[in-house]
Amino acid sequence: MLDIQVTAHQPLALGVRPAGPAPVPTRLHVPGSVLRGALAAAWIAEYGLPTKVPANKRREFIALFEGDVSYGPLFATGSQVVPLSVLRCKYRHCAAVVDEAFDDAEGEPSCACGPLVPGRGEVEFTGASAGQLVIQSTHLQIDDAHGVAEEGQLFTRRALTHRDADGTERTFHGRITPSNKLPDEAAAWLASVRRLRLGGRRGTSGAVTYTPHPTTTAPPATGHRIALRLTAPAILTDPSGLPLDLADHQALHAALEDELAPRLDGAHITTVGRVWARRERVGGWHAASRLPKPVELAVSAGSVLLLHFDQPPTPDDLLTLAGSGIGLRRNEGFGALETATTAWQQPAEPEPAASGRDRAPDPAETYARRLFDTGHGAWFIDNLRPYIEELAEHPGTRHIGLLERPRLRQLAPEDREAITDMLLTAPVDVLDRTLGLLTALHRGLMQKGNPRP
Ligand SMILES: [Zn+2]
Repeated sequence: MLDIQVTAHQPLALGVRPAGPAPVPTRLHVPGSVLRGALAAAWIAEYGLPTKVPANKRREFIALFEGDVSYGPLFATGSQVVPLSVLRCKYRHCAAVVDEAFDDAEGEPSCACGPLVPGRGEVEFTGASAGQLVIQSTHLQIDDAHGVAEEGQLFTRRALTHRDADGTERTFHGRITPSNKLPDEAAAWLASVRRLRLGGRRGTSGAVTYTPHPTTTAPPATGHRIALRLTAPAILTDPSGLPLDLADHQALHAALEDELAPRLDGAHITTVGRVWARRERVGGWHAASRLPKPVELAVSAGSVLLLHFDQPPTPDDLLTLAGSGIGLRRNEGFGALETATTAWQQPAEPEPAASGRDRAPDPAETYARRLFDTGHGAWFIDNLRPYIEELAEHPGTRHIGLLERPRLRQLAPEDREAITDMLLTAPVDVLDRTLGLLTALHRGLMQKGNPRP
């Protein structure tokens, strides 16, 4: 299992494809399907279309993107899906919170302001650290096939901002769970730092750094009573493939027992305690065929299934279950979940970080500015990438070969010194951000109509 961190360098347009004149909304998290799509696009950019590569490479692509790898959702620091089993103060005047999945008190829970109300399973940010979440911009509709603007076609798109209130780049966290059958080369590819474009395809949005690490997540607590809290929509079906009727606890019990018992090493579900659920229709987009996928009835993120077991599943099995999810189309990001044995709690307000002015400058910004100011910005964009990729793949293979190229013969000594320092000491993610920022600086220059330096 890989812990994934994604750092955003540009606003993220995480909506659906533009349709009609209504503003295209954005999600406030990165669905697993979006992460998977971005990685597939990066793979294709690196090796070519799966239909045009050698058979072993094609198998690798299929194992990564059409096989048993589960791509979980990514949530920004300070944000989460509030489970539907949670009741809170209707007006948020007070901090009253009751998680019905673990509250055995009699009677209607209430606070001084009135009865408590359930949430809607939406992504919420905690406290003021979130800052402004959504920006809106108007674009010319571009014909995807020809890359030209369609006359008079404007659309308005919303995007999640990429900086929080104190100016720090937003980071998103989640996990990818590869199967044991994944070929080594494909697993190594998935475990490498790279730059991705999430969501919107234009140059002005979606640039992120993808940083995977072998998981350090502690296995969750276990017990006889376990709540499955969905963090992504799940497609749950009965044996004939029809959507499960969640009100029919017997059918739900049978289906979950079939799916979970083999994965929980002999722990069996004795009863389905209670279900808090919403439904939604989910579709998808098949990138290779450029066709929409069938629309299915899914159980929404935020839904909670409270299960009783005859014996506590092992913590490791629960962690694997959380990573790989439940239901159909798990490799597309459906069915991701967290397990819980205790009541949900409102996360603490994040520590107020140092204000933007007091923070040390991002070294990537300093490096990018330095590279740009040499006047060789475009050249560095082209030539730094292979070095970063080589380094990501073989940590420790640092060198300053770049500085020996004829192009840089006239480089000022202080630039040479700073770039030497960067090549030999900057962590890969800093180098990657440097490249992103340099590209942004260069693009800004191009947009002003200046010639390529
Ligand atoms: Zn209240």
